[in-house]
Amino acid sequence: MARVLLFATTTGYQTRAFGEAAERLGVELVFATDRCNMLEDPWQDGAIAIRFHDEGASVDAILAAARERPDMPIGGLLVVGDRPTVIAAQVARALGFPGHPPDAAAIAKHKLRTRERLRDAGLTVPWFTAVAVDHEPSAISHQPWLYPCVLKPVALSGSRGVMRADDPESLRTALERLRALLASPDVRAERNDDHRTALVEGFIPGREFAIEGLLHHGDLHVLAIFDKPDPLDGPFFEETIYVTPSSAEPQTQEAIVRAVTAAARAIGLYHGPIHAECRVNPTGVFVLEVAARPIGGLCARSLRFVPAGIRDSGIGVGPIALEELLLRHALGESPAAWVREAQASGVMMIPIPRRGILRGVEGGDAARRVPGVQDVRITAKMEQLLVPLPEGSSYLGFIFASAAEPRAVERALRAAHSQLRFAIDPEFPVLGPSSMRYNHVHG
Ligand code: ADP
Repeated sequence: MARVLLFATTTGYQTRAFGEAAERLGVELVFATDRCNMLEDPWQDGAIAIRFHDEGASVDAILAAARERPDMPIGGLLVVGDRPTVIAAQVARALGFPGHPPDAAAIAKHKLRTRERLRDAGLTVPWFTAVAVDHEPSAISHQPWLYPCVLKPVALSGSRGVMRADDPESLRTALERLRALLASPDVRAERNDDHRTALVEGFIPGREFAIEGLLHHGDLHVLAIFDKPDPLDGPFFEETIYVTPSSAEPQTQEAIVRAVTAAARAIGLYHGPIHAECRVNPTGVFVLEVAARPIGGLCARSLRFVPAGIRDSGIGVGPIALEELLLRHALGESPAAWVREAQASGVMMIPIPRRGILRGVEGGDAARRVPGVQDVRITAKMEQLLVPLPEGSSYLGFIFASAAEPRAVERALRAAHSQLRFAIDPEFPVLGPSSMRYNHVHG
């Protein structure tokens, strides 16, 4: 039985989906994850405990664990989540597997270094400049042409800390907010010096797309182009709906693929999953980032694949999950043998409307009954403190839909969302009548 090393930021839905895919393929998974996260979810035994911030020790620990079982050699490796991508790339190199070069993985998760690479390769980029988060910017520029602009931390993901500023005053406020976020305990726990740097860049108007792909020895196989039909104009950039196939004109889709191919090459990515985001307007395609990992968590459920050639023939071969396709690729199979299923498909990441404690969710059954809806998963926990963007890093849950046409998928997702009601109490109890009297007496 082959073994596949799976580097995961957290143990959770995605690692379970890989577990199921591995079982189908008769492959054993060996997890490598950060010790802190393992404590939260001890269901898997045999995981290799590493420290994401200590790359050298983590690589050594994984190589030692790989050597312990010469009877069951490692047949490939995969990484999910941004944080372990460089460690995974180093292990791939040490074990002689094709992968993304460690340098390229490091550039891909650093927004400033990515911008520099794309600019140097002659790709379309907005103007950009680095700022040290801890230093009071001596003079926030009053040059009107700088606005609107976008402030973002260079090393967080999921739109965390990404804020639009329309004038010097809002840029100053955004910078203060970012400074507080980067000083919060969970960000500090990453012990990442890159969190001292932020990027300010020109706001790019336009439509946004996400591209899921597999690089196979340098060649990009596009698995899906997702439309993001909700306008993402700020001040914060919460992802909501992803729908594939894209409804953009064929020339636009071709331009997107060309730009992502060139961006991946400029960064130096070579072999393995990529997830890219781009914005498109009459100036061209602006690639925002190319991450050296697949789409995150539950969203992967919106992608299913069938053998190329039978897609339109109607022959009943059950589709496989993205996780199975990625495992097959990790074991050496070419992605050319698979295409996305013919149905349109999509996911809504249910945004957190306001900060507070989640007390209840209603309407789940009605949402699930909406035609086209495949599943509604509320992932936030009752009594959990919900934190919206730009500080937060999670969603209330996910809605999945599929239909013959992308428009019908989008309609189903919106209709299901409109059925859901979330009871969210303020984080601090609202003063009741007696305490209000108390306030009054002392007021
Ligand atoms: P992350 O890796 O945290 O997702 P991104 O740089 O991809 O950070 O930005 C997150 C989102 O913010 C993007 O998907 C986009 O909607 C918006 N965004 C980021 N940079 C810009 C920009 N320069 N112009 C317009 N929107 C932007």
